[in-house]
Amino acid sequence: KLARFPCVRTLEGFDFDAQPSIDPGQIRDLATGRWIGHGQALLLLGPPGVGKTHLAVALGREAVDRGYTVLFTSAAALMAGLTKAHADGRLEEKLLQLSKPKLLIIDELGYLPLEPAAAHLFFQLVSRRYERASMLITSNRPVGEWGQVFGDAVAATAILDRLLHHSQVITIRGDSYRLRDKRRSGLLQ
Ligand code: ADP
Ligand code: MG
Repeated sequence: KLARFPCVRTLEGFDFDAQPSIDPGQIRDLATGRWIGHGQALLLLGPPGVGKTHLAVALGREAVDRGYTVLFTSAAALMAGLTKAHADGRLEEKLLQLSKPKLLIIDELGYLPLEPAAAHLFFQLVSRRYERASMLITSNRPVGEWGQVFGDAVAATAILDRLLHHSQVITIRGDSYRLRDKRRSGLLQ
């Protein structure tokens, strides 16, 4: 039940040689799920195509295999769900539901502009889960730009204060893996 991974991706299928900005030892350690046992957060940051979603799905799968309840959602779907629940007077119920999985994976924060009320709703979710249950968030925007992502610098600071307190932040650099073959065949410079 839960999880809802958008695709099948594994750590075995991740080419660490192609991504030298990632420490394979750190990923292996994350795969043990100990950080989830401790309610820590994990941020995977970097430009499009560098493997953020791949690693989020693969680590989510490892967590499921170790008996943790996991829910995977896109940031857009999460925010839409929170906004609708709020409008329907069911925010409390929704926050309770989203607080249950031991690991909540939120993919692609920052790709789409957020609704003005979303920052406050997201803050409530982060506060609920803080020090109790883990969050894995992927974003194409560095945390220094999350004020713009949320359209609210004060809310972004409060969100990051909690997320970063017990956390690991992995910033992935490099070119898109998707465009690798095109570059190799000379289609791209
Ligand atoms: P992001 O979420 O950072 O935009 P993805 O994780 O979706 O990028 O990666 C884009 C595609 O390239 C996916 O199909 C993914 O499986 C693949 N990919 C990215 N990096 C690697 C890698 N180091 N080894 C194997 N496949 C990779
Ligand atoms: Mg992605």
